[in-house]
Amino acid sequence: MTVAAARRRVRIRVTGTVQGVGFRPYVHRLAAELGLTGFVLNDERGVVVEAEGEPGAVERLLARLPAEAPPLAAVERVVAEPRPATGERGFAIVESEAGGERLAIVAPDSATCADCLRELFDPGDRRYRYPFVNCTNCGPRFTIVRGVPYDRPLTTMAGFAMCAACRAEYDDPADRRFHAQPNACPACGPRAVLTDAKGRRLAAGDQVAAAAALLREGTIVAVKGLGGWHLACLAADERAVAELRARKRREEKPFALMAAGLEAARALVELSPADEALLLGRERPIVIAPRRADAPVAHAVAPRSAELGVMLPHAPLHHLLLHDVGAPIVLTSGNVSDEPIAYADDDARERLGPIADAFLGHDRPIHMRTDDSVVRATGEGPLLLRRSRGYVPAAVPLPLEAPPLLACGAELKNAFCVAKGRRAWVSHHLGDLTNWETLRSFREGVAHFERLFAVEPEVVAHDLHPDYLPTAYALEREGVELVAVQHHHAHLAACLAEHGEEGPAVGAIYDGTGLGSDGTAWGGELLAGDLEGFERAGHLLPVRLPGGDRAAREPWRMACAWLCAAGADVSRVPPALAGDVPAERWRAVARLAAGGPTAPPTTSAGRLFDAVAALCGVRAVTSYEGQAAIELEACAAPGPARPYPIAVEPGPPVVIDPRETIRCVARDAAAGRPAAAVSARFHAALAAATAEAVAAVAAARGIGTAVLSGGVFCNRRLVEQTARALRAAGLRVLVPRALPPNDGGIAYGQAAVAAARTRGRG
Ligand code: ZN
Ligand code: ZN
Ligand code: FE
Repeated sequence: MTVAAARRRVRIRVTGTVQGVGFRPYVHRLAAELGLTGFVLNDERGVVVEAEGEPGAVERLLARLPAEAPPLAAVERVVAEPRPATGERGFAIVESEAGGERLAIVAPDSATCADCLRELFDPGDRRYRYPFVNCTNCGPRFTIVRGVPYDRPLTTMAGFAMCAACRAEYDDPADRRFHAQPNACPACGPRAVLTDAKGRRLAAGDQVAAAAALLREGTIVAVKGLGGWHLACLAADERAVAELRARKRREEKPFALMAAGLEAARALVELSPADEALLLGRERPIVIAPRRADAPVAHAVAPRSAELGVMLPHAPLHHLLLHDVGAPIVLTSGNVSDEPIAYADDDARERLGPIADAFLGHDRPIHMRTDDSVVRATGEGPLLLRRSRGYVPAAVPLPLEAPPLLACGAELKNAFCVAKGRRAWVSHHLGDLTNWETLRSFREGVAHFERLFAVEPEVVAHDLHPDYLPTAYALEREGVELVAVQHHHAHLAACLAEHGEEGPAVGAIYDGTGLGSDGTAWGGELLAGDLEGFERAGHLLPVRLPGGDRAAREPWRMACAWLCAAGADVSRVPPALAGDVPAERWRAVARLAAGGPTAPPTTSAGRLFDAVAALCGVRAVTSYEGQAAIELEACAAPGPARPYPIAVEPGPPVVIDPRETIRCVARDAAAGRPAAAVSARFHAALAAATAEAVAAVAAARGIGTAVLSGGVFCNRRLVEQTARALRAAGLRVLVPRALPPNDGGIAYGQAAVAAARTRGRG
């Protein structure tokens, strides 16, 4: 028999997230099934397979390898090259060579899989009700990793020695827990413990059941999750929720909820099939969706909101807790007001001590703090408002080769990004980098990411703003090439790049503010450009920002500024604001709004929303960022509305001029028209004007693609109406999908711009 002649051998290189996700045992099973011989191993670039056998079987292996990969794997490329057949017998998993796993890509934390869930609730299983059950297909990853290679000693599981039963699973290539680094059981792994703020135990027996009993009685309980501590209470308990709100000093920002499963979530919010898929996805984000009128939820959960944020359990501890409580709970970040979420146990007990009556913790440390991710369902698809737990650190592809680089991001809602080749790793949400404490977590995070992904930056991208802390950090880095990127250009580039495009496109980029190329505060921009550069083709009419940063916290100031700009009467406080603003302060701001050094000009779209929200009595003073715009959107009457008049001056540059709109808003509000109608007509006007302006710029330049981004486009109504009008005008519309439209996407955009500007060099 001529065995060798009939056999074919290939060497296959697989790249992507293929380590620590059960890839080698998966290849082993596939090879056994197809009757192939050879081996599989991990190296510094991913997984290498050599397979030999009947040519048809080798062909089937190549087809099935990416298609049936394990759930946590993200296969980017499969490249095969022929090798001479050797007649080798058997198929082996070869141990990695020491020191070789530089690109051993760490996977994101992942929701409990169906197999583990079955064990969790099976009284016959040895992991019955074990709050830390996990396997190769699920469990903690990014939050427990201290360094690379991804191996137990370099995770926060290092202190737990596996028992014989767990070790046997870990060593068995046929087992679901083969090389599952966080593998554990009640005999050898982490344990849950219910204590008071001083660390004294509160109950004997099942700790989760005891915590659930406290929750059912209306107690506020701090719960240690995957990426940090949460605060929990019964969602329907009016008194408990109001108490939590008072203790947390979070006056009006909505609380997130956790429901046991899809059925329970459906009782709270209206869900499309796409929303349900998001809720059930392994990332398990908070999904913001329209609330049901009869949702069994205390008023204090989300006052003035037409929506609720809901998530399903992402860790076994949460599955048990929700099962035992038997009703939805509030599960909000463990912090006071806008501080970062607590993740170290002593810090949590200290900071949350005045808020929580009990602490459900455990002894597996959290290495990386990650907040819950937040997604908002829209007719344009889901918008990621915060990209953190479950998503990070999955790579986001770049449409061009990048040198090893770091992009520092924006000052607020900061996330940074490291990149190399065609991959970018965007960090978890770090929040507002406005003090040295958050700057320290930024520095540590950057160092961690550079190690994890073996990126030694040659290029550092940063915002134009010289006073931003991330910019200051960039300027400190030595021996690197600096690339300064304008804020709104970064928004445009981020959206293009995540869609695999380089432009050109015309972007409507609307947000609070970012420093413009001319040194003024931009925020309602029409940019024509690509990854490398842009031209400011148009903008919102500039008005004065009376009192600078204070204007963002006091929307009534913007109402005054816009009335001034519109030539309306500002001698008296408008009726809708009479109860909120003393007459002499109003007059002082009216004088400021006429000009002067403390009232710089701005084209901010966010501030236009503030003005309208104040004028129609929705909100005069805010307690969190973006609140006025969020509440203005929330109050809008459903269904189509007749747009207010709004001017689009052809330019160049094109100027969107809403002065007539403002006069109409003021007139209708004074006449007592409901805010619902005013808001709906304002949204319709701005959407129509934006689409008209973008289409005009696109037509003049022969560009067929439009981009909608910036924090203001987290507004469902605005993004839906503008996108619809743009498509009606014959344009393709791109909106952010993989990254937030807000400043959480800035670093990735800076990375794309830096890659384009350094292309072909060195
Ligand atoms: Zn599992
Ligand atoms: Zn064990
Ligand atoms: Fe922005």
